[in-house]
Amino acid sequence: MPVTPVALTHAEDLADFVAASPSSYHAAEEVAQRLESVGFARLDEGDAWPTQAGGRFVVVRDGAVIAWVVPKDAAPTTPSQIFGAHTDSPGFKLKPQPTTGSRGWLQAGVEVYGGPLLNSWLDRELRLAGRLALADGRVVLADTGPLLRLPQLAVHLDRGVNNNGLALDKQNETQPVWGLGDPSAEDLLGELAASAGVNAADIRGFDAVVADSARGAIFGKDNAFFASGRLDDLASVHAGVMALAGLSSAPRGIAVLAAFDHEELGSESRSGAAGPFLEDILARIYAGLGADATEQRRALTASWHLSSDVGHSVHPNYAQKHDPVVQPLLGSGPILKINANQRYATDAIGAAAWAGWCESAGIASQEFVSNNAVPCGSTIGPITATRLGIRTVDVGIPILSMHSARELAGVADLHALAQVAEAFFAA
Ligand code: ZN
Repeated sequence: MPVTPVALTHAEDLADFVAASPSSYHAAEEVAQRLESVGFARLDEGDAWPTQAGGRFVVVRDGAVIAWVVPKDAAPTTPSQIFGAHTDSPGFKLKPQPTTGSRGWLQAGVEVYGGPLLNSWLDRELRLAGRLALADGRVVLADTGPLLRLPQLAVHLDRGVNNNGLALDKQNETQPVWGLGDPSAEDLLGELAASAGVNAADIRGFDAVVADSARGAIFGKDNAFFASGRLDDLASVHAGVMALAGLSSAPRGIAVLAAFDHEELGSESRSGAAGPFLEDILARIYAGLGADATEQRRALTASWHLSSDVGHSVHPNYAQKHDPVVQPLLGSGPILKINANQRYATDAIGAAAWAGWCESAGIASQEFVSNNAVPCGSTIGPITATRLGIRTVDVGIPILSMHSARELAGVADLHALAQVAEAFFAA
C-alpha cells in the first residue's frame, strides 16, 4: 500500500502518543485526556452515571481504559461494536527497595515484566515511569525521562559473543545503571518523586516500569517504516482512539474502545481482559438504557469484539519460521489472525465480518496463521469471547521484532487499521 500524507500524519501522532505513554497508567490517562479534549465526559466507577443515550464517556481503571459513544436513539437491545487492545508492553518493572548498586555504580532493582527480547534493551537510554500512591491518598503519575541504561559487556571482554550468542542472566545481568555514587546514600524513588513534584517520603506504594525513551521514527524508502517502542500494543490503542474520536457520523451501534492492562502476563487482573472491567461497563451502559437482563443478553448476542494486537510480518531472513503459503508482509495491510487451537478467536463468521469492514473502509487485508512447528502467542480475543460470549475477531498489524524495546511497523498499516476501526464502529 502507498504511504499517503495522512498516513504519515497518523504515524507522527502515534509517536506523540507512545512518547506520552511510557507505562500502562500513562497510556490509559493519555487516552482519557485525548477523548476529553474532543468532548467525552470522564466518569468515575464509584459515582452514579448519567443517562447513556447520546453520550460520549470514558472511564479509567488503573492501567486500563474504556470509552464509548452511544447513539441518540439507542435502545435496550442496541448492540455494541467493541474495539479491544492492550496498554501494557513487555519490559521491566521496579522491585521493592529498588536502589541498589556496586563498584561505585547506582543500579535499579528490576523484575522482568512479560516476555521482552532481553538483548534489545541493551545500550538504550531508558525512562522510569508509572504511578505513585501517596500518604494523602492521591495517586500521581511519574516519569523521569532518560535516566537508566543496561550497558552491554564490551566485545573485548566477551570474545565469543558473536559466535555463541548472548544469553543474559535475568537477575544479575538485567539491573540497569542510573548514576554514580553510594547506593546507601541515594534513593531511586526520589528521582520518581521529583519527576512528579512530590516528596519521596510520601510514597506509600509504586508501580513503575522501565521504558525506552527514544521517540518513534519514520524512515526507509518511501517512508515505509515506523520504528518505536511499545507498538505492541499502543499502535492498536492509538488506532482505536483515533477512530472513536473521529467518528464522523453517529454510530448505529454503541461504539466501545476497550484497552486492557496486563495482557503480557495473561490478562488475569481487575484491569486485565480476563477481569470484570468490560463486563462491568457494558452492564452499566445497558442499565443506563433501561435494559433488563434478557435485553442485555440480546444486545450482546448481536455485538462484536474486534480484538486488535500486533502480529508477525514475514521476515526476509527467517521466512521459514512462517507458514509456507500464508506470509503477511509489513506495509500490505492489517491482518486477520487465524489459529485452529483458538489462540485467536477468529472463525468463519468473524472472517466474513472482517472482510466486510475492510471493504467498507476500502482497505486490503492479509491473513496470518502460524507454521505448525512455531506456535503463535495469544491475545485478549479468546479471553473476552470466553468470558462474555461476544462474537470476536482477532486482527492487528504485521510487525517485525515483536517484544523488542523498539519494534518495526509499516506506516501504511497503522493508518489503515484506524480506518477499519472507524468502519467497524460505523457498521
Ligand atoms: Zn500484544
